[in-house]
Amino acid sequence: MKTIETTNPQKLAKLQSYSQGKWFTSPETGAILKNAVTGDDVASICSDGLDFAAMANYARTVGGPALREFTFHQRAMMVKNLATYLLERKELFYELSTATGATRADSWIDIEGGIGTLFSISSKARIEMPNSKVFPEGKQEQLSRKGTFVGQHIYTPLQGVAIHINAYNFPCWGMLEKLAPALVAGMPVIVKPASQTAYLTELMVRHIVESNILPEGSLQLICGRTGDLLDHVTYQDVVSFTGSASTGLRLRQGEKIAAANTRFIMEADSLNCTILGDDVEPGSAEFDLFVNEVVREMTVKAGQKCTAIRRAIVPTTKLDAVSDAISKALEQVVVGDPADDSVTMGALAGTDQRQDVLTAVDQLLKHSRLAFGDVTQQSFVGENTSNGAFLSPLLMVANDPHTTVAHDVEAFGPVCTLVGYTDREDAVRLAAKGKGSLVGSLVTNDGDVAQDITLGVAAHHGRILILNEACAKESTGHGSPLPQLVHGGPGRAGGGEELGGVRGIKHYMQRTALQGSPDMLSNVTGIHMTGSTVKSSEIHPFQKTFEELEVGDTLITEKRTVTLEDIEAFAELSGDKFYAHTNEEAAARNPFFDGRVAHGYLLVSIAAGLFVWPDEGPVLANTGLENLQFQKPVYPGDVVHVQFTCKQKKNRETETWGEVRWDTTIFNQNGDICAHYDVLTGVANSSDETK
Ligand code: NAP
Repeated sequence: MKTIETTNPQKLAKLQSYSQGKWFTSPETGAILKNAVTGDDVASICSDGLDFAAMANYARTVGGPALREFTFHQRAMMVKNLATYLLERKELFYELSTATGATRADSWIDIEGGIGTLFSISSKARIEMPNSKVFPEGKQEQLSRKGTFVGQHIYTPLQGVAIHINAYNFPCWGMLEKLAPALVAGMPVIVKPASQTAYLTELMVRHIVESNILPEGSLQLICGRTGDLLDHVTYQDVVSFTGSASTGLRLRQGEKIAAANTRFIMEADSLNCTILGDDVEPGSAEFDLFVNEVVREMTVKAGQKCTAIRRAIVPTTKLDAVSDAISKALEQVVVGDPADDSVTMGALAGTDQRQDVLTAVDQLLKHSRLAFGDVTQQSFVGENTSNGAFLSPLLMVANDPHTTVAHDVEAFGPVCTLVGYTDREDAVRLAAKGKGSLVGSLVTNDGDVAQDITLGVAAHHGRILILNEACAKESTGHGSPLPQLVHGGPGRAGGGEELGGVRGIKHYMQRTALQGSPDMLSNVTGIHMTGSTVKSSEIHPFQKTFEELEVGDTLITEKRTVTLEDIEAFAELSGDKFYAHTNEEAAARNPFFDGRVAHGYLLVSIAAGLFVWPDEGPVLANTGLENLQFQKPVYPGDVVHVQFTCKQKKNRETETWGEVRWDTTIFNQNGDICAHYDVLTGVANSSDETK
């Protein structure tokens, strides 16, 4: 593990950057970073001397091509392996994380939360994306009457570099949540952590490099300023910024970024709110949940979360009860050195950050009264804390709900303002005064309140948590962005979007609308397009192994007459005696039918009876059925057959079998399509391996 010098600046550890496959030490000392708890020096940081243009070029010419040699699944496996590697070393990160002022619980969010995001994005990618180099999006579009001209959207990786500029509050999670989607997409990354806590990011990058899991050039690190890096961006690059709205705005308006139309993702500060439903009474489970949630958001990471609750909007009639209950709970919070077991809230990331919070609090207090806390508190738990960046939690109550600066001023620390509302419309108006937030929450046990308020505020928020007793035990809480759900928000929150499962991966790819003949599009996408050439062979496709199967392999089945006896037997067997299958007159009165019809599920079963090869072979199981549509009724006496085509193959990196999707169409005697769907199967790679 990296040694942290704590005394003589001459001997102080200099953070290194990782550039073009080598660790780089700036000849200059740069800024000194302080331990948030003790105020001791931790390291110095400077990037002077780095060749930023060469770094970008290295990423584009070495990292990008190396990554794009692999498929989505192969890259997702790298991300998973990286997660496992980092998890095995997590205690090293926890140890250093204490210097950021974080408690063990705070560090868990940053370190294991970040690693968990790697696992999650990797898994989503392998489930929802093909194991190939092109990602078709949505369904084939029929662009012509005869079907010889069709369309399909595809995603392919951008061929530039992803530049990730991150905030100081989550030195690990902030890097990993952006790294995972970029790598899976196939883009190399240059990470620039915020200086204040860059020592922890540097340590993690050191381990990532040592792991040798990622191809050369796929990850570089800048410790210090970004120099002229942003003057070298192109339209193939992505800049993803997390930090204050003012810095974000400046960077987004940079001449080169604007001229090249470089994709710019921005996650900025946000005046997130929580709303207490007007149905919730003191003493109820939901009232306690509201109080707990506000206290948790004020104290976790000492309130330094972009998603933390800054405004708690409550019915005016309940302001006093809420203020008293939160104050009572805050009395239990122990602020001090996280090394002390009694401590429940650590320090801010540094004294500069504390000063920023105090300046914001000054502004807030001009429009509010302090209900809990002491801005002048100097003494905190722990022996060596007098120079630490500690602050008491501060709860305020707005004087005038509509004019308070609480809607504009973000105190990025353990600070929250209570704002009173008169009715639901008023609550919605107040929430919207944040001018766009990452997340909002609503605590209610009333479905009407949930609908009125959620639909009123949704357009102003990237994520909304509706909390009641039913989900509270398993709820991940107001402040936790989740890899499966989008993180980002409109307006003041930056207008950006990250994560959200595979959506986050698409931010690093270009969507292209392909047009052409079905055969051409099949070749490009690796998916059998409707209307493209089908290949029939003597061998039943169920007798072919995963490797032997080719997209387009097709079986045209025998024909079968569907009889009234079939329908009656199926009604008995399944218990589905819906009148359209059992009562001729009633069925005829139904606008969809002329008389009794076959059950849709009977048809699907008859189709399986026609296309299945019964003997033991490479096909292992039917794992699902998708996009089923019944298009034309089947009457007793109709004669059906099936066209069954290998539509898409998805080999699995860690299994001896792959997934095969079969385009399945049931026709009647007139050539009309009665049903159309995808059958999903697991097919063994080779007959030997199935044994
Ligand atoms: P900041 O001053 O805007 O800095 C953010 C990042 O930008 C840091 O890495 C910083 O590097 C870098 N930076 C600053 N000036 C730059 C420039 N001219 N060129 C290139 N990079 C530059 O924000 P902060 O005060 O550190 O972070 C706290 C803010 O971030 C809060 O307002 C919080 O709400 C917001 N935040 C938002 C999210 C989100 O997901 N929406 C998450 C966390 C935090 P240096 O540190 O080296 O200056």
